[in-house]
Formats: sequence, structure tokens, C-alpha cells
Amino acid sequence: MVKQVELSPDGPSVSDVIYGTWRLLDGDPRPSVADLTARFELCLELGITTLDTAEIYGLYTVESAIGEVFKANPGLRDKFQVVTKCGIDVPSSVKSHARLPHYNASSENLVACAEKSLGLLNTDHIDLLLVHRPDWLNRADDTAAGLDKLIQQGKVLHAGVSNYTCPQFELLSSRVAKPLVTNQVEISLLCMDALYDGALSQCEQLNIRPMAWSPLGGGRLFGADLESSQRIRSCMDGMKEKYNGADYDTLAFAWVMALPSRPVTIIGTNRPERIRSQAAASAIQLERQDWYALWEAAKGHSVP
Ligand code: NAP
Repeated sequence: MVKQVELSPDGPSVSDVIYGTWRLLDGDPRPSVADLTARFELCLELGITTLDTAEIYGLYTVESAIGEVFKANPGLRDKFQVVTKCGIDVPSSVKSHARLPHYNASSENLVACAEKSLGLLNTDHIDLLLVHRPDWLNRADDTAAGLDKLIQQGKVLHAGVSNYTCPQFELLSSRVAKPLVTNQVEISLLCMDALYDGALSQCEQLNIRPMAWSPLGGGRLFGADLESSQRIRSCMDGMKEKYNGADYDTLAFAWVMALPSRPVTIIGTNRPERIRSQAAASAIQLERQDWYALWEAAKGHSVP
């Protein structure tokens, strides 16, 4: 079973493998409410109790699809912690004012988006609201005012950020009334920026867990075109037996979860068998030299 952990000393409690919904509606035909219900129920069966979504997912359609599942299944919403994000505006029928993709982390926009998300998701609270991307044009005081207001009103229980640099995180932290509980950043064998830019160290210092997006490099780990992916997979072939026949995706998730900031990982697949194998990473502790062997395979050289 996937473990329950605290994202920060003040919560929220989440599963350490989370179901991500960026690609929720991919597929032809589009999955029905019954299909999505079955997927959510599989998550619960495996101990995955946290859903990660965002206003913009599916070009502003995923939140309402999740809301339809909750509406069709009374009681289901309360079995999940719901994480959503806002602050990205792209031209669409929903964002008719947007002439081009841009960010908007103003207090006014955050409050309006969160209130819209509550309606679409068919819920009276968002467990965790993240500012999706840092908005270079907004003062932190104003972003913080929006998050504070939503928390004060009980519409949002916890706030955090995504894709923030360390100074941006520090600045916003210094302005919010309730501590930020996470920074959701890209972490994988194919994207190690957060290991080098201080984002993970900052989380560890603050005793909060990062959320790792695209833990399989958005699927590039399985492609034939990247030499690094091929090296990683053949390195994994040599350690599968030691980890009870773990699949590539299980080991890739476990590699992220072994980091000392203890990231929670976000699943991106829609396939039941892959949801199962990625959830299995929650129970795996990679041995130190296996972790470094995968680092070496990813980089193509040994540690300096
Ligand atoms: P990912 O796991 O890195 O990539 C998922 C992709 O990999 C899917 O296309 C999936 O295809 C493929 N895949 C998974 N397992 C596979 C396997 N065993 N063999 C071959 N292909 C496989 O995750 P992601 O979808 O990029 O991101 C995960 C979540 O992170 C998103 O849903 C979203 O919630 C969050 N996210 C956040 C941000 C942000 O800015 N905060 C950005 C991106 C994503 P199949 O569906 O066919 O399995």
C-alpha cells in the first residue's frame, strides 16, 4: 500500500504517490465518468488518496471532469485530498481575455480561480492550492494576500507553489500568514535541476516535502531516441531481481523518492497496470550504490 505522509509539519496528510491528472482525459474516445470512477477507485485501493490537478489541465476541462466523477459518486470526494493549481492563462473560450499565454498570480486572479475550481470540482474546499508558476509581474505581497484570504475563508486549507526558484519561495514565504507547504518541481532521472539549484535542499531545510512532477520525464524514459534513457533502462535491468522484479517505472519513482527531501511523486499514466507499478515505489528503498548507478547511467559518467 502507498504510504500516508505529512507534506509539512502543519499538514496536509497526503499519499506519497499521488495521482496526477494533467493527461486525465487523453485517449480516444475520451474516458467516461465510469472510466474515471474506476481509475479513482483503483487509486484508493492502492492507497493513493491524493489527486493533483490544475485549472489549466485539459485546456480548462479536467477540473470539471473530476467534479463530474465526485458528483456521480457521493462520498468519493471526501476520500481524497485535492490539490489544484492556478495562475496560467492561455487563449481559450474560458480565458477570452488572454491574447497570449501568460501568468497571473495576482490576489484577484487567485481568488477568482480558486472559487471557480470549487464549483467545477464540486467541493466546498481545496486541500492544497498551488501557484502554478511564478508570475514575474506580481508583487509577493499581493500573491500572499490572495492565498491568505482563501485560507481565512476556509475555501483552501493549505497553500504552496510550483516551479518557484529558491529566492522566489523565500520571498513569498516571508509574506504569507500560514507557511507554504510545498514546492512542486520537476524531478526525474532525466531532469535533475532541482538537485543542483537548491530547491530540494530548501524543502529539506524547511521540513516540507517537494512534490515531483514528470518523474518519468514525461515518458521520455521509455523512448528509443535518448541515449541516457537506454543506459538507465539497461542499468535497471541489472537491478530488477534485487528489487523483486520491479519495473522500470517503479525503479524510476523509487529513485526520486530516495532523495533526502523525501519528495512525493506524481503519477501521469492513465493505464491501470502502470498506476499499480508506480504505486509500488512507495514500498521500495533503493540501496545507496544502486541510486548512484542510476545517476551515473543518466549522466553518462561517474560522479566527479
Ligand atoms: P510522467 O510519469 O513523467 O509521464 C507520463 C507519461 O509517461 C505518459 O504519457 C505515460 O503514457 C508515459 N508512461 C508512463 N509509464 C510508462 C511506461 N511504463 N511505459 C511507457 N510509457 C509510460 O508524468 P507526467 O504525466 O509528465 O506528470 C505527472 C503529473 O505531474 C501530471 O499529471 C501533473 O499532475 C503533474 N505536472 C505538474 C507540472 C507543474 O508544472 N506543476 C507539470 C507537469 C506535470 P501512458 O499514459 O500511455 O502510460
